[in-house]
Amino acid sequence: MNYLLQPKKYGSLTADAGTRAIMDKTIAFFEKMGKTRLTEDFNKKIWYREFVDYIGKEQIFAKLLTPSQYGGGDPDCRWDTARNSEYSELLAFYGLGYWYCFQVSILGLGPIWMSGNEAAKRKAATLLKKGAIFAFGLSERAHGADIYSTETVLTPDKDGGWLANGEKYYIGNGNEAEMVSTLGRIKNGTDDYCFFVTNYRHKAYELKKNVISHQEYVSNFALHDYPITEEDLLSRGPDAWDAALNTVNIGKFNIGPASIGVTEHCFYEAITHAANRILYGMPVTNMPHVKKNFMDAWLRIVGMKLYQRRATDYFRNANEKDRRYLLYNPTSKMKVTLQAEDVINLLWEVIAAKGFEKDTYFAMGAADIRGPSKLEGTVHVNIQLIRKFMKNYFFNPMTYEPVRTDFTAKDDLFLFNQGPTKGLGAVQFHDYRPVFEASRSLPNVAVFMDQIDLFKALLEKAGPDTAQDMDPSFSLPLGEMFSIVVYGQLILEQAAFNNVDPDIVNQIFDFMVRDFARFALQIYGMHNSTDAQRVYCKDIMFIKAQGDDAQYTRVWEKYVFPLNGEYAMNE
Ligand SMILES: Cc1cc2nc3c(=O)[nH]c(=O)nc-3n(C[C@H](O)[C@H](O)[C@H](O)COP(=O)(O)OP(=O)(O)OC[C@H]3O[C@@H](n4cnc5c(N)ncnc54)[C@H](O)[C@@H]3O)c2cc1C
Repeated sequence: MNYLLQPKKYGSLTADAGTRAIMDKTIAFFEKMGKTRLTEDFNKKIWYREFVDYIGKEQIFAKLLTPSQYGGGDPDCRWDTARNSEYSELLAFYGLGYWYCFQVSILGLGPIWMSGNEAAKRKAATLLKKGAIFAFGLSERAHGADIYSTETVLTPDKDGGWLANGEKYYIGNGNEAEMVSTLGRIKNGTDDYCFFVTNYRHKAYELKKNVISHQEYVSNFALHDYPITEEDLLSRGPDAWDAALNTVNIGKFNIGPASIGVTEHCFYEAITHAANRILYGMPVTNMPHVKKNFMDAWLRIVGMKLYQRRATDYFRNANEKDRRYLLYNPTSKMKVTLQAEDVINLLWEVIAAKGFEKDTYFAMGAADIRGPSKLEGTVHVNIQLIRKFMKNYFFNPMTYEPVRTDFTAKDDLFLFNQGPTKGLGAVQFHDYRPVFEASRSLPNVAVFMDQIDLFKALLEKAGPDTAQDMDPSFSLPLGEMFSIVVYGQLILEQAAFNNVDPDIVNQIFDFMVRDFARFALQIYGMHNSTDAQRVYCKDIMFIKAQGDDAQYTRVWEKYVFPLNGEYAMNE
């Protein structure tokens, strides 16, 4: 069984014919383009006009990004997180740039679908049908994560509307987006936040440059007395603020699948290269350390996929009474994207010079893979967010109805109605212990559970004091340790649904135990950790994963090595 995406034997997780057609057409587009063209376009930084035209012609963004209510009777139109995640993974498999065009369209549409502005929604639906792309104009050059400092303003004009002035930076698709959801503040006695729509064709919209050197267009644009009417206004006041954060919630969840797609394509290239490269009379994959890198890389990819798949169910089932997705989302954002960086590092150590070659996907993936962890909130920002849930997660669980695997063809409309972004510390979670208990017979899960118990005891008996809590250099590794527990929990939940071979699960928890120990070492080594904290960290560090050579060989022979030659993109 192949756990990785294989375009030439593609089986969409979503069963309906419309979805299968979207995936199949996209695969056909890229396989027809071929790797030579794909890599040349990347190397020459050519903007993807042909791709944008193709998805327009085939109505692909229209189907994926229009809630059914606005779909004009097209039965394939819906906003379905499972389907969008699957599509993200597929696009990134062929290039992060193509995915980014999809990603920022998602972000741009967020404040529109969340707004009460029906005219803007209908306009977006019509434009989607015409093949338009969209943009999200939040960031400004000087302010980074501090959106409180947004400087773009709307000033009242003499006709009862406003004039927009300001400059935005790092705005994807800003070169051709028909609707740019732009964040600003209204200057009419209030300093209310507001979202309004701009269009790149307007003469008051100055497209200044592409900020980055890539085939993606990440724009810097300026608005000079750009006229805005009620029709262009999406939201204001707290609604606009919530729309900004809730849109980022949606977009953020779409980043993990992209990182997964990049690693999968790189994996095929790497193992096929290494298994067929003969050094000292034997294939490179015969060397034990090389085998270990591939095992670790493959197991990490499988872990990423299991986590992301399970988190998607919680996303789809979210409602005002079940906001657990607010933890699983930043955990995906920081863990899955960082795991992907680890995977590429492991593979690159093996394929070395090959990874530089300009006609490989690997060179593209290696250049791009460190991006996703930094976009829509850095790792720091996401860990700080995650920490808010730690107390309730460990010490105040509650019972929920089980959340089932959800591939139903329905809109995830709650995402456009998430409500105020406050109250994260009050969100409660189902007890994490039963799912671990159910796998206790796997030695490395049992070891991991011992580490969790020690970590929990650390929090209870030697938790951070106020100064440590206020100091991110201390609280960040603590947040990493918490996130690994959440990560492990959802991996086990999904592994049970998919009947994943216990050999694989036990081997996944081999690296999980090692990672847990690594974060404990970070806290142990901090100048401001207390003696009591160090004792717990030492105990966590000194617990060792249980080796099982026979099991390791079984996984290698059954799942990992057979990926040699399994997939190669058409030339
Ligand atoms: C290729 C690319 C595409 C992008 N696309 C878009 C787009 O389409 N639309 C858009 O609006 N923006 C976009 N962005 C902006 C992007 O979302 C931000 O760049 C990103 O969120 C990080 O912000 P920053 O680089 O300004 O870091 P800063 O906010 O300047 O952060 C500086 C440092 O402070 C830390 N820090 C900041 N706040 C906190 C906190 N609360 N807790 C702990 N640490 C903190 C950070 O981790 C970082 O180490 C894009 C950026 C790039 C590079």
